[in-house]
Order: sequence, then C-alpha cells, then structure tokens
Amino acid sequence: MRLVLVGPPGAGKGTQAQFLAVHFSIPHIATGDIFRSNLKAGTPLGLQAKAFMDSGELVPDSVTNEMVKDRLNQSDVAAGFLLDGFPRNVLQAEVLRANLAQKQTPLTAVLELSIKNSEIIARLSSRRTCRECGLPSAGDGKCLHCGGALYQREDDKAEVVARRLKVYEEQTAPIISFYRSEGLLIIVSAIGSVEEITQRAILALDPGSH
Ligand code: ADP
Ligand code: ZN
Repeated sequence: MRLVLVGPPGAGKGTQAQFLAVHFSIPHIATGDIFRSNLKAGTPLGLQAKAFMDSGELVPDSVTNEMVKDRLNQSDVAAGFLLDGFPRNVLQAEVLRANLAQKQTPLTAVLELSIKNSEIIARLSSRRTCRECGLPSAGDGKCLHCGGALYQREDDKAEVVARRLKVYEEQTAPIISFYRSEGLLIIVSAIGSVEEITQRAILALDPGSH
C-alpha cells in the first residue's frame, strides 16, 4: 500500500497517519517531522528549513523533493509507505509521480481528510505537541500517548496558523484536483473521534478488511 494523506493543518493528519501506518504495516513518512528532528539536531537541513517553518511558509521544493527522494530509497519502503505532509504543491506531486513511475511503484491511493476552516482554527489554537514522542494532544495536561510534557509548536501560534491555512489553500489544495483527475482520490470526513475517523479511512482504503 503506497499512500498519500492530504488535508489542511489541524485535520488530524499526523494522528491518523500514525494509526493507519500501524494498521497497514507501512512506514509513516512525515516531512514536517523530518524537518523538526533535523532542526532539533541542528543539521544543515534543519538550518535550511528553520526560517520557512517558523513563518508557516513551505520549505523550498529543491530541498524537500531531495529529502523525500532519499527517504523513499530506504529499504523499509519496499513494504509501501504513508506520506504525510508531502506533496504540498503540484510541483512536488509531479516530482513524486515521476520518481515512483521510474521505480514502477505508483501510488495506491490519496486520502483527503476533509474539514471546514472554522473547525481548523479552533483545533489548532488548542493543540499542544509532546516533547517526547512528537504526537499532538489537546489541552494543557500531559501527552495522551506517552505522558510526556506538552508544548505549543511555534507554528501553532495564531498568526502563523493563519499563514499556514493560506499556504494550504493557495498551494496544497490544487493537488486535490490533480489526484482526482488521476483517479486516486478518496475523501474521508475528519469530523468525529480519532477512532471513528481511523475506521472510516481503513474502510475506504480497504473495503474488504473487516
Ligand atoms: P501541518 O500541521 O501544517 O501539516 P507539518 O508538520 O506537516 O505541519 O509541517 C510543518 C512545516 O514544515 C510546514 O509549515 C513547512 O514549513 C514544512 N514542510 C513540511 N512538509 C513540507 C513540504 N512537503 N514542502 C515544503 N515544506 C514542508
Ligand atoms: Zn508523547
């Protein structure tokens, strides 16, 4: 199973990706996580990405495409993969298609988590992220997954959220038509409990599975 997960910031992509990757036994490849871990480790890639990430802009395509290409050449990808946060614009989608075509491993499906703007803003402003495991949790307590301490991502602050949404609408939303015309698009509502949405997605991807 070779999947792309798309949806606006706050749709719950990261959380769903985690569960879907376990369900289908495929690696979860989140470009935002790769950038953040490079940032934390102070690598040249992290330094290149920092200013873009802090302001809610996309990291330049040359940097991002190269990073994803390397990741997709690692051996665990033989089992398939779930891409989360990539592609984020039509050029990235085209580069991915060419790269996968060359390896004769085209995408199986593209899952869109769909949600209204008003809902997104409410969710992101209360979102906190775990310092230990990197997963999102709502509210001010401890991480729901591992009990670690939570913090607010620099780019979850109100001004940056507004910019990320604008970037999504202008640059990322067009990939939805791109994948629709390729016959790959599956739309799942991102409203409901985490478990409900996971079940919906699994059913949509693999109708014979239950
Ligand atoms: P979100 O919650 O907005 O989906 P991510 O963790 O996926 O956040 O990404 C955080 C930031 O990392 C983005 O705002 C962007 O700066 C950078 N980034 C992640 N993926 C990409 C990509 N495919 N292309 C360019 N920049 C990216
Ligand atoms: Zn945690």
